[in-house]
Amino acid sequence: MSNVHELNFLKEKIQELKNDGVHRKLPILEGANEAEVILNGKKVINLSSNNYLGFANHPKLKKASVEAIEKYGVGAGAVRTIIGNMDIHEELEDLLAQFKREEAVMVFQSGFNCNAGTIQAVTEKGDLIVSDELNHASIIDGARLTKADKTVFKHADMNHLEAVLKENRDKYRNILIITDGVFSMDGDIAPLPEIVALAEKYSAMTYVDDAHGSGVLGESGRGTIDHFGLHGRVDFTIGTLSKAIGVIGGYVAGSHTMKDWLSHRGRPLLFSTSLPPAAVGAIIEAVKLLMSTTEYTDRLWENAKYFKQKISQLGFNIGKSATPITPVIIGEEGLTMEFSKKLFENGVFVSGIVFPTVPKGTGRTRCMVTAGHTKEQLDRAVEIFKKVGEEMKVL
Ligand code: PMP
Repeated sequence: MSNVHELNFLKEKIQELKNDGVHRKLPILEGANEAEVILNGKKVINLSSNNYLGFANHPKLKKASVEAIEKYGVGAGAVRTIIGNMDIHEELEDLLAQFKREEAVMVFQSGFNCNAGTIQAVTEKGDLIVSDELNHASIIDGARLTKADKTVFKHADMNHLEAVLKENRDKYRNILIITDGVFSMDGDIAPLPEIVALAEKYSAMTYVDDAHGSGVLGESGRGTIDHFGLHGRVDFTIGTLSKAIGVIGGYVAGSHTMKDWLSHRGRPLLFSTSLPPAAVGAIIEAVKLLMSTTEYTDRLWENAKYFKQKISQLGFNIGKSATPITPVIIGEEGLTMEFSKKLFENGVFVSGIVFPTVPKGTGRTRCMVTAGHTKEQLDRAVEIFKKVGEEMKVL
Protein backbone atom coordinates (compact mmCIF):
# COMPACT_ATOMS: atom_id res chain seq x y z
CA MET A 1 0.00 0.00 0.00
CA SER A 2 2.48 2.65 1.17
CA ASN A 3 4.70 1.95 -1.85
CA VAL A 4 2.01 3.39 -4.06
CA HIS A 5 2.18 6.70 -2.21
CA GLU A 6 5.92 6.91 -2.71
CA LEU A 7 5.11 7.21 -6.42
CA ASN A 8 7.86 4.78 -7.34
CA PHE A 9 6.28 4.30 -10.76
CA LEU A 10 6.93 8.01 -11.43
CA LYS A 11 10.41 7.93 -9.92
CA GLU A 12 11.34 5.24 -12.45
CA LYS A 13 10.09 7.41 -15.30
CA ILE A 14 11.98 10.42 -13.93
CA GLN A 15 15.14 8.31 -13.84
CA GLU A 16 14.59 7.52 -17.52
CA LEU A 17 14.47 11.24 -18.28
CA LYS A 18 17.74 11.65 -16.39
CA ASN A 19 19.32 8.78 -18.32
CA ASP A 20 18.26 10.44 -21.59
CA GLY A 21 19.79 13.76 -20.47
CA VAL A 22 16.45 15.59 -20.75
CA HIS A 23 15.51 15.99 -17.09
CA ARG A 24 15.36 19.62 -15.92
CA LYS A 25 14.07 22.03 -13.30
CA LEU A 26 11.72 24.86 -14.22
CA PRO A 27 13.83 27.96 -14.95
CA ILE A 28 13.13 30.99 -12.72
CA LEU A 29 12.79 34.43 -14.27
CA GLU A 30 13.46 37.45 -12.05
CA GLY A 31 11.44 40.39 -13.37
CA ALA A 32 9.55 40.96 -16.61
CA ASN A 33 9.84 38.88 -19.77
CA GLU A 34 12.08 41.11 -21.90
CA ALA A 35 14.86 40.82 -24.50
CA GLU A 36 17.53 40.56 -21.81
CA VAL A 37 16.63 39.01 -18.48
CA ILE A 38 17.92 37.54 -15.22
CA LEU A 39 17.20 33.82 -15.43
CA ASN A 40 18.28 31.43 -12.67
CA GLY A 41 20.35 34.30 -11.30
CA LYS A 42 22.26 34.90 -14.57
CA LYS A 43 21.94 37.80 -17.01
CA VAL A 44 21.18 36.40 -20.47
CA ILE A 45 19.78 37.40 -23.85
CA ASN A 46 16.30 35.93 -24.05
CA LEU A 47 15.68 34.07 -27.31
CA SER A 48 12.88 31.85 -26.02
CA SER A 49 9.87 34.00 -25.46
CA ASN A 50 6.61 34.28 -27.42
CA ASN A 51 6.51 37.96 -26.52
CA TYR A 52 6.93 38.77 -30.25
CA LEU A 53 6.12 42.47 -30.06
CA GLY A 54 7.52 43.26 -26.63
CA PHE A 55 3.99 43.89 -25.30
CA ALA A 56 4.32 41.77 -22.15
CA ASN A 57 5.90 44.69 -20.25
CA HIS A 58 4.62 47.60 -22.36
CA PRO A 59 3.85 50.78 -20.33
CA LYS A 60 0.57 51.46 -22.19
CA LEU A 61 -0.71 47.94 -21.53
CA LYS A 62 0.28 48.12 -17.87
CA LYS A 63 -1.56 51.43 -17.48
CA ALA A 64 -4.70 50.03 -19.14
CA SER A 65 -4.47 46.98 -16.90
CA VAL A 66 -4.31 49.08 -13.72
CA GLU A 67 -7.25 51.18 -14.90
CA ALA A 68 -9.31 48.05 -15.53
CA ILE A 69 -8.49 46.79 -12.04
CA GLU A 70 -9.57 50.11 -10.52
CA LYS A 71 -12.94 49.93 -12.25
CA TYR A 72 -13.67 46.19 -12.33
CA GLY A 73 -11.59 44.65 -9.53
CA VAL A 74 -9.16 41.76 -9.78
CA GLY A 75 -11.50 38.88 -10.61
CA ALA A 76 -14.51 38.32 -12.84
CA GLY A 77 -16.23 36.40 -10.06
CA ALA A 78 -18.02 33.78 -12.13
CA VAL A 79 -18.11 31.91 -15.41
CA ARG A 80 -19.30 33.97 -18.38
CA THR A 81 -22.64 32.22 -18.65
CA ILE A 82 -23.58 33.19 -15.08
CA ILE A 83 -22.31 36.65 -14.08
CA GLY A 84 -18.67 36.73 -15.21
CA ASN A 85 -19.40 38.35 -18.58
CA MET A 86 -18.43 42.01 -18.12
CA ASP A 87 -18.93 44.75 -20.68
CA ILE A 88 -15.14 44.76 -21.28
CA HIS A 89 -15.27 41.09 -22.37
CA GLU A 90 -17.87 42.10 -24.96
CA GLU A 91 -15.83 45.17 -25.98
CA LEU A 92 -12.76 42.97 -26.45
CA GLU A 93 -14.64 40.49 -28.65
CA ASP A 94 -16.05 43.24 -30.87
CA LEU A 95 -12.60 44.77 -31.23
CA LEU A 96 -11.00 41.41 -32.07
CA ALA A 97 -13.70 40.69 -34.68
CA GLN A 98 -12.90 44.04 -36.30
CA PHE A 99 -9.16 43.31 -36.11
CA LYS A 100 -9.52 39.82 -37.59
CA ARG A 101 -12.07 41.03 -40.20
CA GLU A 102 -14.52 38.29 -39.20
CA GLU A 103 -18.18 38.45 -38.13
CA ALA A 104 -17.67 37.44 -34.51
CA VAL A 105 -15.12 36.39 -31.89
CA MET A 106 -15.45 34.30 -28.75
CA VAL A 107 -12.74 34.75 -26.11
CA PHE A 108 -11.52 31.94 -23.85
CA GLN A 109 -9.14 31.89 -20.87
CA SER A 110 -6.22 30.54 -22.94
CA GLY A 111 -5.36 29.33 -26.41
CA PHE A 112 -5.19 25.79 -25.08
CA ASN A 113 -8.64 26.13 -23.57
CA CYS A 114 -10.00 27.61 -26.76
CA ASN A 115 -8.86 24.65 -28.85
CA ALA A 116 -10.13 22.16 -26.29
CA GLY A 117 -13.52 23.90 -26.02
CA THR A 118 -14.12 24.72 -29.66
CA ILE A 119 -13.17 21.44 -31.34
CA GLN A 120 -15.28 19.55 -28.85
CA ALA A 121 -18.28 21.83 -29.37
CA VAL A 122 -18.35 21.81 -33.17
CA THR A 123 -17.83 18.10 -33.87
CA GLU A 124 -19.63 14.93 -32.80
CA LYS A 125 -20.09 11.26 -33.63
CA GLY A 126 -20.52 10.87 -37.38
CA ASP A 127 -17.96 13.61 -38.13
CA LEU A 128 -14.31 13.30 -39.10
CA ILE A 129 -11.40 15.48 -37.97
CA VAL A 130 -8.52 15.60 -40.44
CA SER A 131 -5.49 17.07 -38.70
CA ASP A 132 -1.96 17.97 -39.87
CA GLU A 133 0.48 15.59 -38.15
CA LEU A 134 2.46 18.49 -36.66
CA ASN A 135 -0.50 20.31 -35.12
CA HIS A 136 -0.15 21.70 -31.62
CA ALA A 137 -0.80 19.55 -28.54
CA SER A 138 -3.93 21.52 -27.61
CA ILE A 139 -5.49 20.53 -30.94
CA ILE A 140 -4.63 16.90 -30.31
CA ASP A 141 -6.12 17.10 -26.83
CA GLY A 142 -9.18 18.97 -28.10
CA ALA A 143 -9.75 16.27 -30.70
CA ARG A 144 -9.54 13.63 -27.96
CA LEU A 145 -12.52 15.23 -26.22
CA THR A 146 -14.95 14.63 -29.06
CA LYS A 147 -16.61 11.44 -30.26
CA ALA A 148 -15.82 12.36 -33.86
CA ASP A 149 -13.39 10.06 -35.70
CA LYS A 150 -9.87 11.42 -36.23
CA THR A 151 -7.17 10.96 -38.82
CA VAL A 152 -3.96 12.82 -39.68
CA PHE A 153 -2.46 13.95 -42.96
CA LYS A 154 1.27 14.18 -43.58
CA HIS A 155 2.61 17.59 -42.70
CA ALA A 156 1.49 20.16 -45.31
CA ASP A 157 1.12 17.36 -47.88
CA MET A 158 -1.76 18.40 -50.14
CA ASN A 159 -1.77 15.15 -52.13
CA HIS A 160 -2.22 13.21 -48.93
CA LEU A 161 -4.89 15.59 -47.64
CA GLU A 162 -6.84 15.24 -50.89
CA ALA A 163 -6.57 11.45 -50.78
CA VAL A 164 -7.96 11.43 -47.22
CA LEU A 165 -10.82 13.75 -48.19
CA LYS A 166 -11.68 11.74 -51.28
CA GLU A 167 -11.73 8.47 -49.38
CA ASN A 168 -13.86 9.78 -46.51
CA ARG A 169 -16.18 12.41 -47.95
CA ASP A 170 -19.18 10.14 -48.32
CA LYS A 171 -18.63 8.27 -45.06
CA TYR A 172 -19.16 11.25 -42.75
CA ARG A 173 -21.62 14.08 -42.10
CA ASN A 174 -19.08 16.89 -41.52
CA ILE A 175 -15.34 16.86 -42.11
CA LEU A 176 -13.23 19.38 -40.20
CA ILE A 177 -9.71 20.06 -41.53
CA ILE A 178 -7.44 21.41 -38.78
CA THR A 179 -4.06 23.00 -39.29
CA ASP A 180 -1.76 25.37 -37.46
CA GLY A 181 -1.35 28.64 -39.40
CA VAL A 182 2.32 28.82 -38.41
CA PHE A 183 3.92 25.65 -37.04
CA SER A 184 5.35 26.39 -33.64
CA MET A 185 8.41 24.15 -33.75
CA ASP A 186 9.55 24.80 -37.33
CA GLY A 187 8.24 28.29 -38.11
CA ASP A 188 6.84 27.24 -41.50
CA ILE A 189 3.50 28.59 -42.77
CA ALA A 190 0.67 26.21 -43.68
CA PRO A 191 -0.29 26.15 -47.39
CA LEU A 192 -3.66 27.69 -46.56
CA PRO A 193 -4.83 28.68 -50.05
CA GLU A 194 -4.47 25.02 -51.14
CA ILE A 195 -6.09 23.70 -47.95
CA VAL A 196 -9.05 26.07 -48.32
CA ALA A 197 -9.45 25.14 -52.01
CA LEU A 198 -9.52 21.43 -51.11
CA ALA A 199 -11.98 22.11 -48.31
CA GLU A 200 -14.26 23.90 -50.75
CA LYS A 201 -13.93 21.12 -53.34
CA TYR A 202 -14.87 18.44 -50.79
CA SER A 203 -17.34 20.54 -48.75
CA ALA A 204 -15.23 20.30 -45.61
CA MET A 205 -14.90 22.91 -42.86
CA THR A 206 -11.56 24.56 -42.03
CA TYR A 207 -10.04 25.31 -38.64
CA VAL A 208 -6.77 27.26 -38.40
CA ASP A 209 -4.84 27.62 -35.14
CA ASP A 210 -3.04 30.89 -35.75
CA ALA A 211 -1.40 31.25 -32.34
CA HIS A 212 1.96 32.06 -33.95
CA GLY A 213 0.59 33.95 -36.96
CA SER A 214 -1.57 36.44 -35.07
CA GLY A 215 0.33 39.62 -34.32
CA VAL A 216 3.05 38.44 -36.70
CA LEU A 217 1.74 37.88 -40.27
CA GLY A 218 -0.67 39.97 -42.33
CA GLU A 219 -1.51 43.67 -42.12
CA SER A 220 -0.58 44.89 -38.61
CA GLY A 221 -0.41 41.27 -37.48
CA ARG A 222 -3.95 40.29 -38.51
CA GLY A 223 -2.67 36.77 -39.06
CA THR A 224 -2.17 34.04 -41.62
CA ILE A 225 -5.70 34.33 -43.09
CA ASP A 226 -5.04 38.02 -43.79
CA HIS A 227 -1.55 37.21 -45.12
CA PHE A 228 -3.15 35.00 -47.79
CA GLY A 229 -6.30 37.13 -48.26
CA LEU A 230 -8.64 34.31 -47.24
CA HIS A 231 -11.15 36.25 -45.15
CA GLY A 232 -14.58 34.63 -45.07
CA ARG A 233 -13.25 31.29 -46.37
CA VAL A 234 -12.01 29.77 -43.09
CA ASP A 235 -14.70 28.63 -40.63
CA PHE A 236 -12.74 28.83 -37.37
CA THR A 237 -9.58 30.87 -36.74
CA ILE A 238 -7.90 30.52 -33.37
CA GLY A 239 -5.61 33.12 -31.89
CA THR A 240 -3.87 33.48 -28.55
CA LEU A 241 -3.67 36.61 -26.47
CA SER A 242 -0.59 35.30 -24.69
CA LYS A 243 2.05 35.52 -27.41
CA ALA A 244 2.23 38.63 -29.65
CA ILE A 245 -0.53 40.30 -27.64
CA GLY A 246 1.60 39.73 -24.54
CA VAL A 247 -1.08 38.93 -21.94
CA ILE A 248 -3.17 35.75 -21.53
CA GLY A 249 -6.21 34.19 -23.23
CA GLY A 250 -7.33 32.73 -26.53
CA TYR A 251 -10.10 33.33 -29.03
CA VAL A 252 -11.88 31.87 -31.98
CA ALA A 253 -12.96 34.12 -34.86
CA GLY A 254 -15.70 33.12 -37.29
CA SER A 255 -19.44 33.55 -37.75
CA HIS A 256 -22.26 34.77 -35.48
CA THR A 257 -23.65 31.23 -35.55
CA MET A 258 -20.37 29.82 -34.25
CA LYS A 259 -20.33 32.32 -31.41
CA ASP A 260 -23.96 31.70 -30.50
CA TRP A 261 -23.35 27.94 -30.32
CA LEU A 262 -20.12 28.26 -28.30
CA SER A 263 -21.89 30.43 -25.74
CA HIS A 264 -24.09 27.38 -25.07
CA ARG A 265 -21.66 24.50 -25.56
CA GLY A 266 -18.11 25.85 -25.15
CA ARG A 267 -17.31 23.97 -21.95
CA PRO A 268 -14.44 26.22 -20.72
CA LEU A 269 -16.90 29.14 -20.90
CA LEU A 270 -19.56 27.26 -19.02
CA PHE A 271 -17.38 25.73 -16.34
CA SER A 272 -14.34 27.97 -15.82
CA THR A 273 -14.20 31.60 -14.63
CA SER A 274 -13.70 34.24 -17.31
CA LEU A 275 -10.55 36.30 -17.92
CA PRO A 276 -9.74 38.79 -15.15
CA PRO A 277 -10.30 42.52 -15.87
CA ALA A 278 -6.56 43.27 -15.63
CA ALA A 279 -5.93 40.94 -18.57
CA VAL A 280 -8.89 42.20 -20.60
CA GLY A 281 -7.94 45.86 -20.14
CA ALA A 282 -4.37 45.21 -21.28
CA ILE A 283 -5.47 43.13 -24.27
CA ILE A 284 -7.86 45.82 -25.51
CA GLU A 285 -4.99 48.31 -25.37
CA ALA A 286 -2.69 45.89 -27.22
CA VAL A 287 -5.15 45.33 -30.07
CA LYS A 288 -5.77 49.08 -30.39
CA LEU A 289 -2.01 49.66 -30.49
CA LEU A 290 -1.59 47.05 -33.23
CA MET A 291 -4.41 48.59 -35.27
CA SER A 292 -2.90 52.07 -34.96
CA THR A 293 0.67 51.37 -36.14
CA THR A 294 2.83 48.85 -37.99
CA GLU A 295 5.86 49.96 -35.96
CA TYR A 296 5.96 46.79 -33.84
CA THR A 297 5.36 44.24 -36.58
CA ASP A 298 7.85 46.05 -38.86
CA ARG A 299 10.55 45.86 -36.17
CA LEU A 300 9.76 42.20 -35.49
CA TRP A 301 10.29 41.26 -39.14
CA GLU A 302 13.40 43.39 -39.50
CA ASN A 303 14.95 41.67 -36.47
CA ALA A 304 13.83 38.21 -37.58
CA LYS A 305 15.33 38.59 -41.06
CA TYR A 306 18.56 39.99 -39.62
CA PHE A 307 19.03 37.16 -37.14
CA LYS A 308 18.04 34.38 -39.53
CA GLN A 309 20.43 35.57 -42.18
CA LYS A 310 23.35 35.75 -39.73
CA ILE A 311 22.66 32.39 -38.11
CA SER A 312 22.31 30.54 -41.43
CA GLN A 313 25.44 32.25 -42.79
CA LEU A 314 27.33 30.55 -39.95
CA GLY A 315 26.19 27.21 -41.37
CA PHE A 316 23.44 26.28 -38.90
CA ASN A 317 20.40 24.42 -40.23
CA ILE A 318 17.26 26.52 -39.64
CA GLY A 319 14.96 24.15 -41.51
CA LYS A 320 11.96 25.58 -43.37
CA SER A 321 11.33 28.59 -41.16
CA ALA A 322 9.45 31.42 -42.89
CA THR A 323 8.59 33.39 -39.74
CA PRO A 324 10.41 34.79 -36.67
CA ILE A 325 10.43 31.26 -35.16
CA THR A 326 13.98 30.12 -35.96
CA PRO A 327 14.81 26.51 -35.12
CA VAL A 328 18.52 25.74 -34.98
CA ILE A 329 18.43 22.01 -35.57
CA ILE A 330 21.09 20.06 -33.68
CA GLY A 331 19.78 16.47 -33.82
CA GLU A 332 20.32 14.03 -30.98
CA GLU A 333 18.43 14.79 -27.74
CA GLY A 334 21.33 14.83 -25.26
CA LEU A 335 23.52 16.89 -27.61
CA THR A 336 20.72 19.42 -28.09
CA MET A 337 20.25 19.87 -24.34
CA GLU A 338 24.02 20.20 -23.87
CA PHE A 339 24.17 22.82 -26.63
CA SER A 340 21.37 24.79 -24.96
CA LYS A 341 23.17 24.54 -21.59
CA LYS A 342 26.45 25.84 -23.06
CA LEU A 343 24.63 28.73 -24.74
CA PHE A 344 23.19 29.65 -21.38
CA GLU A 345 26.59 29.53 -19.67
CA ASN A 346 27.83 31.91 -22.37
CA GLY A 347 24.92 34.36 -21.99
CA VAL A 348 22.01 33.29 -24.25
CA PHE A 349 18.86 31.51 -23.17
CA VAL A 350 17.38 29.32 -25.91
CA SER A 351 15.51 26.32 -24.61
CA GLY A 352 16.34 22.95 -26.09
CA ILE A 353 13.31 21.28 -27.65
CA VAL A 354 13.43 17.51 -28.00
CA PHE A 355 11.25 14.41 -28.32
CA PRO A 356 8.28 14.13 -27.66
CA THR A 357 7.69 17.80 -28.60
CA VAL A 358 9.53 17.22 -31.91
CA PRO A 359 10.34 13.89 -33.66
CA LYS A 360 13.30 11.87 -32.27
CA GLY A 361 16.66 12.92 -33.71
CA THR A 362 15.47 16.44 -34.65
CA GLY A 363 16.27 18.18 -31.36
CA ARG A 364 16.68 21.91 -31.72
CA THR A 365 17.23 25.16 -29.94
CA ARG A 366 14.23 27.19 -31.00
CA CYS A 367 15.12 30.86 -31.27
CA MET A 368 12.31 33.37 -30.92
CA VAL A 369 13.32 36.75 -32.25
CA THR A 370 11.18 39.68 -31.06
CA ALA A 371 10.61 43.36 -31.80
CA GLY A 372 12.18 44.05 -28.42
CA HIS A 373 15.69 42.85 -29.32
CA THR A 374 18.35 45.39 -30.27
CA LYS A 375 20.76 44.68 -33.13
CA GLU A 376 23.57 44.62 -30.56
CA GLN A 377 21.80 41.87 -28.60
CA LEU A 378 21.20 39.85 -31.76
CA ASP A 379 24.85 40.25 -32.82
CA ARG A 380 26.01 39.11 -29.40
CA ALA A 381 23.68 36.10 -29.55
CA VAL A 382 25.01 35.11 -32.99
CA GLU A 383 28.62 35.36 -31.72
CA ILE A 384 27.78 33.06 -28.82
CA PHE A 385 26.11 30.54 -31.16
CA LYS A 386 29.30 30.57 -33.25
CA LYS A 387 31.59 30.07 -30.26
CA VAL A 388 29.55 27.24 -28.73
CA GLY A 389 28.87 25.65 -32.13
CA GLU A 390 32.63 25.48 -32.85
CA GLU A 391 33.48 24.26 -29.35
CA MET A 392 30.91 21.47 -29.55
CA LYS A 393 31.74 20.69 -33.19
CA VAL A 394 28.15 21.07 -34.36
CA LEU A 395 29.15 23.70 -36.90
N1 PMP B 1 -1.76 26.69 -30.25
C1 PMP B 1 -0.47 26.80 -30.59
C2 PMP B 1 -0.08 26.52 -32.02
C3 PMP B 1 0.48 27.16 -29.63
O1 PMP B 1 1.78 27.27 -29.96
C4 PMP B 1 0.07 27.41 -28.30
C5 PMP B 1 1.05 27.84 -27.21
N2 PMP B 1 2.16 27.05 -27.06
C6 PMP B 1 -1.28 27.28 -27.99
C7 PMP B 1 -2.18 26.93 -28.98
C8 PMP B 1 -1.76 27.51 -26.59
O2 PMP B 1 -1.88 28.88 -26.35
P1 PMP B 1 -1.89 29.44 -24.86
O3 PMP B 1 -0.48 29.52 -24.40
O4 PMP B 1 -2.55 30.78 -25.00
O5 PMP B 1 -2.70 28.50 -24.04
